[in-house]
Amino acid sequence: MKKEFYDALIQLTEEKNVLTDEPLKNHVTFRVGGAADYFVSPESAEEVQKIILLCKEAGIPYYILGNGSNLLVSDQGYRGVIIQIYKSMSEISVKGEFVTAQAGALLSAIAAKAAGESLAGFEFASGIPGTIGGAAVMNAGAYGGEMKDVLEQVTVLTKEGELLTIPREELDMGYRTSKVAKNQYIVLEAVIHLAHGEKEKIREKMNELKEKRTTKQPLEYPSAGSTFKRPEGYFVGKLIEEAGLRGFQVGGAQVSEKHCGFVINKDNATAAEVRELIRQVSERVKANSGVTLEPEVKMLGEF
Ligand SMILES: Cc1cc2nc3c(=O)[nH]c(=O)nc-3n(C[C@H](O)[C@H](O)[C@H](O)COP(=O)(O)OP(=O)(O)OC[C@H]3O[C@@H](n4cnc5c(N)ncnc54)[C@H](O)[C@@H]3O)c2cc1C
Repeated sequence: MKKEFYDALIQLTEEKNVLTDEPLKNHVTFRVGGAADYFVSPESAEEVQKIILLCKEAGIPYYILGNGSNLLVSDQGYRGVIIQIYKSMSEISVKGEFVTAQAGALLSAIAAKAAGESLAGFEFASGIPGTIGGAAVMNAGAYGGEMKDVLEQVTVLTKEGELLTIPREELDMGYRTSKVAKNQYIVLEAVIHLAHGEKEKIREKMNELKEKRTTKQPLEYPSAGSTFKRPEGYFVGKLIEEAGLRGFQVGGAQVSEKHCGFVINKDNATAAEVRELIRQVSERVKANSGVTLEPEVKMLGEF
């Protein structure tokens, strides 16, 4: 650990926001992964900007983390700075039909706020366990809705540390990707455009979708949601099941018996076991059906 670098970091944000040798498994929903050299939780856009500029200057890599709900971190962890944009940057405000949220706000919190203001159109996102920053990058979606349907504009930091506001027509969002992802921008804030609706109906819809998730998804185990992207014209779960892989296990990692599209951490899995399971599932699905499965889950660190 470089003392000068740590000292420089604590000049940019409060000392309590800078951790060293921090186990990443405590910050990702898969509950696997080694430690990060530095783990910083900035409290403002300015702090994020200063921290990335410091990293660049010092030649130390950084990685942005939201709620870690789409991430597999290697057992060796991360040699660099994890910049967590989550609870300490999670303010939400509403003006008319527009909801402005800092990137660390959880989709569930935004959905609850929108429902409270009788704003409809965000129900689809209420059960996705990510931040709006992560969701904007990934163009997260569920039950027929996607972030691209509701995002009005996104404020980002470029790799050079420049602030940009990108309007919806320039966001270039596709299936689980966006211009933000392609350019490795850091999302700081998003504005969502919703429509006035009936509070009761909005809440009913959210409850209905929650019920669907609870019955269909293995929420009782740690995971990162759907492990693979949906290949056009197919259902991942069905392809995996047809390859005879329901319940297939590598060490503590398992293809969920409840929903084959989810790899779960059944019993203290290592990241290497999860990675190997993903590899074997892809290989066997390809052999069985000819369809190539690509991971939706992002990988961080060495595998
Ligand atoms: C039980 C379960 C159910 C799920 N269901 C769904 C679903 O229905 N639909 C769906 O789309 N996803 C689903 N997911 C996956 C996940 O919740 C989404 O992909 C979510 O958008 C990830 O957000 P996050 O904040 O957790 O991002 P993270 O996992 O922390 O990061 C994901 C990626 O986004 C980047 N990132 C995060 N924040 C920022 C930021 N502020 N600026 C720039 N880059 C950033 C990271 O660098 C990383 O590359 C599910 C996951 C779980 C565990």
